[in-house]
Amino acid sequence: MKITFHGGAREVGGSCIVVETDDAKVALDYGMKVEEGISDSLPKDLDAAIISHAHLDHSGNLLNLAKTNTVVVGSEATRDITTELLRDLIKVQRMNGKSAPYSQSDVAKIRKLWWARDSIALPGMEIRLYPAGHVLGANMIGVKVKEKEILYTGDFCLHDTEILEGSNLIKLPKQPEALIVESTYGGKTRLNRSELLERLFAKINEAIDRNGNVLIPVFAFHRSQEMAKRIDQAMQKGVLPNYNAYTISKLAQKISGYFNCYKELLSEEIREQEEPFNYKHVKHLHRLEQIVEPAIVICTSGFGLAGASRRLLADWASNKNDSVIINSGYIPPESPFTMIKEEGELIENGVKVPVKADVEQIDLSGHADQAELVKLVKILKPDQTFLVHGDLEQARALSTKINMITNVEIPEKKETVIMKV
Ligand SMILES: [Zn+2]
Repeated sequence: MKITFHGGAREVGGSCIVVETDDAKVALDYGMKVEEGISDSLPKDLDAAIISHAHLDHSGNLLNLAKTNTVVVGSEATRDITTELLRDLIKVQRMNGKSAPYSQSDVAKIRKLWWARDSIALPGMEIRLYPAGHVLGANMIGVKVKEKEILYTGDFCLHDTEILEGSNLIKLPKQPEALIVESTYGGKTRLNRSELLERLFAKINEAIDRNGNVLIPVFAFHRSQEMAKRIDQAMQKGVLPNYNAYTISKLAQKISGYFNCYKELLSEEIREQEEPFNYKHVKHLHRLEQIVEPAIVICTSGFGLAGASRRLLADWASNKNDSVIINSGYIPPESPFTMIKEEGELIENGVKVPVKADVEQIDLSGHADQAELVKLVKILKPDQTFLVHGDLEQARALSTKINMITNVEIPEKKETVIMKV
């Protein structure tokens, strides 16, 4: 059996691992590097592409398979949300004047090729999916060839969040031959969730006391629904006072519909509610001009690179009563948040503007931190562990914590390893 790391090796983005025997060949994820856009560099002679979750760094290159009739496998929720994200990707590329050899009919074709099931059998190979936490519909992928098993985690977390339970370790295959595990936060340990939430609500309350605006940039999928639900519930329970609160993103609003539809995949508290993502205190707006200030605004893009979050950042960053709450642990260098954090400035129409708003980073991401990654390895006890989906520094930090339990490798891009079966 051959395992080739086509992407997401020593980097975050473009995840794709190809597992091949004499009889079957599958890709585990088929992602793109979001900052680079769709590229046609991944293998296409596949029996199936198995998608762990809808994030484009795990699914974005699927458009290249539209003309190949390759079977795509993943959860129903992943299928529906991937469809929305791919549609949006094409729309944004067109709006930016980029010519792309893909159309909405390619997205429809991918949807047709999709088998929404949690296991499939290929010649001499069994594939099984296991809930991964992380985002709605996310799965880990188990590949069994004869008696040997590989487990690929995709992105995962073990801790429960307000709307989604963490991955259940008891259900995962023990002592796999190989574990291919993400290492996004291989070198980081986070505060526990309740402390982070306390900090979030304290920061929002401080801004409310100043009659200020609060900008919360989020991603349209999962982080938007999670943050809106969190603020809605906090207002319902009196943790936050009633205050104007909005989400602005057509895509996020559309995806919220799927969250209602697939609430059975979410936490017990959510499952018990009728339409949990029709919020009571948080309103969906279509245009920035509809905001009544002061307000809490949850909007895209998550890294403040474009859209409502970029415009509000320009409007509010120089006001000392306003707040910006970044809730991602990782900020790419091209994001204006990097400059705000490092230099306290923002570039607006080519002019440097000093940032006076309160800027806070609270890492509420859905990835496992180092303690969870080590726990996973300790419980599963794999013979061999491959660290992917992490910068080299993060992967190395994790490696030193687990190399007494398992043989660790940090594969390079395009590297192939051979396993005897
Ligand atoms: Zn992800």
